[in-house]
Amino acid sequence: MKVQASVKKRCPHCYIVIRTKKGSQKGRKKKARKRVVYVYCKANPRHKQKQG
Ligand SMILES: [Zn+2]
Repeated sequence: MKVQASVKKRCPHCYIVIRTKKGSQKGRKKKARKRVVYVYCKANPRHKQKQG
């Protein structure tokens, strides 16, 4: 899977999944959540990408 600064759908079969990770950054009072965007594709697994 590629890690990129920005992710895009590359064919009509691609779909985007957004997940938030809890507490990935230490030492901050506010609850920091890292937003990770994934692109999955059932038709072509090579389209899988990850942002962040
Ligand atoms: Zn695709």
